[in-house]
Amino acid sequence: MEKIKVGFIGLGNMGGGMSMNIAKSGYDMVVHDINRAAATNLLELGAEWADTPKELAESVDVIFTSLPGPTEVKSVSTGVDGLIEGVSSGSIWIDLSTSSPTLIRELSEEFEKQGASVLDAPVSGGVKGAQTGKLAIMVGGSESVFNQIKSILESFGDKVSYTGSIGSGSICKLMHNTIGYGMQMIISECLTLGVKAGVDPGNLFECIKNGSVGRGNLLNVTLPDTYLQGKFDPPNFALKLARKDVSLALELGREYNVPMEAASHAYNELTSAVNRGWENKDSRISLLLQEERAGNIEVRLGQSS
Ligand code: NAD
Repeated sequence: MEKIKVGFIGLGNMGGGMSMNIAKSGYDMVVHDINRAAATNLLELGAEWADTPKELAESVDVIFTSLPGPTEVKSVSTGVDGLIEGVSSGSIWIDLSTSSPTLIRELSEEFEKQGASVLDAPVSGGVKGAQTGKLAIMVGGSESVFNQIKSILESFGDKVSYTGSIGSGSICKLMHNTIGYGMQMIISECLTLGVKAGVDPGNLFECIKNGSVGRGNLLNVTLPDTYLQGKFDPPNFALKLARKDVSLALELGREYNVPMEAASHAYNELTSAVNRGWENKDSRISLLLQEERAGNIEVRLGQSS
């Protein structure tokens, strides 16, 4: 079998590390960026330079892009001298950017008309992860195309997941990041209140890291054992006890004049759940309220289509 030639566009903080790891795995590479200086290391390793995405697409089998967002993904793929003008039947384009699921679905249809395949494969793990090959990669699109290029993904990611049809990788990534930023908001509320109420920041942070939250129990144990199975009886931690804890924290917030917006929202959810008569069920039963608001969407492990 002929050696696969790999193209990479977008050699920034993430793309720089990822493309270097692909090159170090021995693939022949062609690279492009609007900032040519970003390619210096790769060119020194023997990569070729392409002046445009079109030129790059004409000379490789597999194309990676790691671009800021939807605007750049659209212009690099279907703008002037874009990838679509250079791909041929059998070409594979994998977009590693965090971008719009709807856009990549539309672009995938356009590329299919040229006989080319598209995968969306956003990554998580930060710049250090990109440099060290320790990234989670969430891949949507054809499963057989995914299997064809999986070994290239494994050259720069240690946790590679196939997520389903095109766009699903981006959906996973957007949900993942939004969870992170939501958590960050309530963490800052609780840190400011804790410190204002008299605890040393280091001591407070250590307690949060050592407790159930810091051990990752919510994602690793509690949700899989309760909510994600629809199992709330017998309770691991009763709803009425959870509500008592958040209520006490809000009382402390009032005492110390610290606004607790996310915590107030959590308290209201727990209260609404109590009003359903669920106070003695497991506290995670309150998450069923969001399922109702979302249009009766059930989130259960092992039951998706
Ligand atoms: P970056 O700005 O460092 O890199 C983007 C690169 O794309 C730059 O080198 C830029 O010159 C190039 N570029 C921009 N427009 C271009 C165009 N039209 N043609 C060719 N090249 C072009 O951004 P980054 O931090 O590497 O992020 C890249 C993607 O990865 C983003 O979608 C981001 O959301 C995602 N991401 C970033 C991180 C992180 O920690 N930085 C983590 C995970 C995912």
